[in-house]
Amino acid sequence: MNVAVPLATQTDPPVVELRGAARQFGGEQIVHALHPTDFVISSGEYVAVVGPSGSGKSTLLNVLGLLDRPSSGEYVLDGIPTAGAAERVRTPLRASCIGFVFQSFHLLPQRTVLENVLLATAYSGVRRSERVPRALAALERVGLGHRLGFLPPLLSGGERQRAAIARAVVTSPRLLLADEPTGNLDSDSSAAVLDLFDELNRGGLTLVVITHDDDVSARAHRRVRIADGRLREEPS
Ligand code: ADP
Ligand code: MG
Repeated sequence: MNVAVPLATQTDPPVVELRGAARQFGGEQIVHALHPTDFVISSGEYVAVVGPSGSGKSTLLNVLGLLDRPSSGEYVLDGIPTAGAAERVRTPLRASCIGFVFQSFHLLPQRTVLENVLLATAYSGVRRSERVPRALAALERVGLGHRLGFLPPLLSGGERQRAAIARAVVTSPRLLLADEPTGNLDSDSSAAVLDLFDELNRGGLTLVVITHDDDVSARAHRRVRIADGRLREEPS
């Protein structure tokens, strides 16, 4: 008799799970930049985080990106507890699991577009022999296959941000974090970046985009508002 065995009964862990995670700064005057927060993001979600200046958006992004640690509580990234983990655990986890896109691109001006993308593969676990082919594929994907040898200052803002997106995805991260990704772009370039995000999300990438821009947050499938360090889910 043949017995059908279910292939996978266990679902993937959430990509992001904050458990009572909080971040405070300062000595005499304590600033609660992030109040104790529970926040779960499943694989494949596209989340916008909106809120005014000083509300805690960057604090949240830095915690999610393993650039900072919560002062209390836990952050489980892709099933791995990170809040108390050593930097020798967090650094390779950041390089392999997370891609970053910033408002001001953060490309190295003296390195070519291809070199900028290749640099992201260091510490990421991508095998040496795969690095160049993957960087070329990432740059083709964002429409910059014809700009490989250019230095970033010679590119338009939109091209720079697309190069930064190639750099962010070359390692096939679990999570893409973007902080005001269209903040320095004209409307055509913004639209191209948002189209690229849609395409990446359709391919299964989990996206968290911090933005002031309603056009940007409207593209996400889930919106979370942050005010004075407190997160609140918006009705969808
Ligand atoms: P946003 O990105 O939404 O503008 P931030 O997360 O940068 O806000 O800041 C949230 C609050 O935490 C602000 O009141 C800010 O002044 C404070 N803050 C952020 N980083 C620090 C720090 N390193 N030291 C002290 N206070 C900070
Ligand atoms: Mg900020």
